[in-house]
Amino acid sequence: MTLNKSTTKSYETDASGLRGKAKEVIFPNSIPEVQKIVTITPKIVPRGGGTGLAGGAVPQNGQDTVLDLSKLTRIQSLDKERSSIEVEAGVILDDLQHHLKRYNLEFPVNPSSHTIATIGGMIATDAVGSRAIKYGRTSKWVKWVDIVDSQGNLQRKGATELSDYAGMEGTTGVIVKACLKLSPRKLRTASLVPLETVKETLALVRQLKLDSSVSMMEFMDKRISKDLGLEERYHLIVEYESDKGKIKDGAYEKLLALRDRTYPLLASEGYTRIEDPKILTDRFDKIMPWFESKNIPVFGHLGVGILHPCFNHDQEKFIPEMMKLVRKLGGQISGEHGIGLLKKSFIEPNDKKILVNIKKRTDPINKFNQGKVI
Ligand SMILES: Cc1cc2nc3c(=O)[nH]c(=O)nc-3n(C[C@H](O)[C@H](O)[C@H](O)COP(=O)(O)OP(=O)(O)OC[C@H]3O[C@@H](n4cnc5c(N)ncnc54)[C@H](O)[C@@H]3O)c2cc1C
Repeated sequence: MTLNKSTTKSYETDASGLRGKAKEVIFPNSIPEVQKIVTITPKIVPRGGGTGLAGGAVPQNGQDTVLDLSKLTRIQSLDKERSSIEVEAGVILDDLQHHLKRYNLEFPVNPSSHTIATIGGMIATDAVGSRAIKYGRTSKWVKWVDIVDSQGNLQRKGATELSDYAGMEGTTGVIVKACLKLSPRKLRTASLVPLETVKETLALVRQLKLDSSVSMMEFMDKRISKDLGLEERYHLIVEYESDKGKIKDGAYEKLLALRDRTYPLLASEGYTRIEDPKILTDRFDKIMPWFESKNIPVFGHLGVGILHPCFNHDQEKFIPEMMKLVRKLGGQISGEHGIGLLKKSFIEPNDKKILVNIKKRTDPINKFNQGKVI
């Protein structure tokens, strides 16, 4: 169950690129094994797919035991009448979608990391994704979670206590299983709309928000559009849950795959630091000029105001200034990736107080993800 030291290397980082050092990496095969490990281990970093972009799964100082949950992959108890399913934490989102396809059901939250991200990681970060305008965050689709607390006890937490775990980035307990709500699979089509100006883009977004069949409004700036082989204009990918879009079937799948390639492409060009501020969509025209003045490429889930500016090494010095501007515009420093290690210094004192209280109540001995978030 325990890997030797040389094989812990790949666990020194996650998709954030931050580096730390693990004491050991453990792969439990079952929930009772998780309980046993938690009982006897002093410092634990829970880990799903390692796609987190805030360093939440990065171990520190050679002291942390990484608890890799990727072997907890049981998909159980589909309740077709209630449209719900019980799954273990290590199930990868795409594997779940594949399983649900034959029942004409789906889990509707769709982060771009769907090929690797796990259900446990999605709940821990309360992941959002491209269809947030219609389906919101992961927690909205969770009926209950089973967690292992710092004493190794297995506890079931329903809707009223869910917020102690969903979005707490593994600082309060290990999520081992969840009951998820499902949605009927939809026929989806899309349109790719080129736009000349930010003003024009915003006007279209406002108009599309009135259309209940729109499930996605993904923005790409001019530079990103060009990099992806499109015209050098702003673009909106508009997804419809109807046949309104001009792009259908295979071409529709290709378009979504193109969109998923955005960050990997920017990262390969050196724009590795991806941020996720959330602003009111109406203030998009107040922040875009700032990004453009500094040549910072931007894409994002514009329908819900989550933007992904990507910074190269030289541009990272502008991040504190961006955070200030986001706050001035009444926005949030993180719309979906979480705080982890990366954004700790930007957290507001009042938000911190709330998080500290939850931590004290749920993990009084500070066993989980020490030094993260707060
Ligand atoms: C290319 C790319 C695209 C992305 N797109 C999106 C997007 O569209 N929307 C979005 O919201 N995010 C996105 N992300 C970020 C990331 O994929 C999500 O945060 C995802 O939910 C993380 O899942 P994971 O299984 O990889 O978790 P990990 O990276 O392994 O862990 C993330 C955090 O959750 C904790 N954790 C993991 N599993 C558990 C568990 N079982 N119990 C308790 N704590 C746990 C970890 O300790 C860590 O703090 C993207 C990342 C990449 C690399």
